[in-house]
Amino acid sequence: MAGLVAAARLRELGRDVVVREKGTRLGGSMLLSSCVVWRHREWEDLRRECPGGDERLQRVVWERLDEAIAWLESRGAPVVWHETGNPRTVGKRFEPRGVVEALSGDVELQADGCTDDATILCTGGFAASSGFVTRYVKPAASLRLRGNPWSEGDGLSFALDRGASLTPGMDEFYGRNMPDALWDETQLVGLSQLYARFARIFDEDGVEFFDAADVTWSETNVAQATAHRPGARAYYVLDEEALTQRVRDHTVAEMVEAAPAEARVALERLPFDPPPGAVAAVRVIASITHTIGGLQIDERARVVGAEGLWAAGVDAGGIATGGYASGLAQALVQGLVAAEDVAA
Ligand SMILES: Cc1cc2nc3c(=O)[nH]c(=O)nc-3n(C[C@H](O)[C@H](O)[C@H](O)COP(=O)(O)OP(=O)(O)OC[C@H]3O[C@@H](n4cnc5c(N)ncnc54)[C@H](O)[C@@H]3O)c2cc1C
Repeated sequence: MAGLVAAARLRELGRDVVVREKGTRLGGSMLLSSCVVWRHREWEDLRRECPGGDERLQRVVWERLDEAIAWLESRGAPVVWHETGNPRTVGKRFEPRGVVEALSGDVELQADGCTDDATILCTGGFAASSGFVTRYVKPAASLRLRGNPWSEGDGLSFALDRGASLTPGMDEFYGRNMPDALWDETQLVGLSQLYARFARIFDEDGVEFFDAADVTWSETNVAQATAHRPGARAYYVLDEEALTQRVRDHTVAEMVEAAPAEARVALERLPFDPPPGAVAAVRVIASITHTIGGLQIDERARVVGAEGLWAAGVDAGGIATGGYASGLAQALVQGLVAAEDVAA
């Protein structure tokens, strides 16, 4: 997302630009996403929910997002919803393939080949690198990947070799608890088990490690906590009342029913005694969509300490630290900011 945005803006500004894409298709994780580009409605909510972020960088994204969304629409990116469906946030939902079409020009499908020209790093962080994830996130066991397979920390390595430094929050990630079963990239949204707030949450050892009352609306915190439990797995145990609750368009019962059978565990097969009133259980595994910590940049998206390098999107840290904020909003605004600074 950040790379396509930056390149489109550079072309608009009359600059020559080459986009290098390592994957076999364009769109990165954006193509797999729900594509809701949003910000917190209130600035104070962003600060409260992402307290570890760099206030100056957060302000750039928060203040510029509405005009950035208008720019995206003006490029012909198709809007699916004109609001987010979440009263805490404002933004729009786009159709991801249409976003790629609206933004893409010539792209070389190759990973390397950087020259001495100004370079904007937009490689989407390091979620797909088990080595980097082990080093920085330190999960108890391998996490499942819930994003594109090419974001292996190449931007990070490239910039660190040139003097860049890292932000706080390198151990944090945005992700979901997904059914502990086989699934593919077409199911990343539909199979997210987004009802921890109604469940009793146990680990493999039967320790009830997370209180449903502490689950944030994005449920990012429970996915992060699950990553540090044995096997990076948890059991969501539900009673009758929990099954009737609604999350967006679905009841919890429908979401449980949609989970693959391997992940739905009969109560008598749980590795611990089910709590009183339990009627269903689902085994989930912590799954990483993208990392939250990254390269330190300034308000113009320049990589601090590395002359001639800019970073945008997940490669840059300092936005969602301590919580969750829209990765697409960050990619969109920082892509524009980086392009405009390079062109200036
Ligand atoms: C299932 C799912 C749902 C989501 N829903 C939302 C949502 O509704 N709202 C939201 O805000 N966010 C959402 N996200 C997150 C969002 O997709 C990301 O935050 C966003 O795509 C990040 O943009 P980016 O440009 O940093 O990375 P990406 O969009 O992932 O792009 C990174 C690109 O870099 C390429 N690359 C990696 N290494 C190299 C290299 N060495 N050379 C060349 N190319 C390289 C990759 O192939 C990829 O194309 C979702 C993600 C997923 C997977």
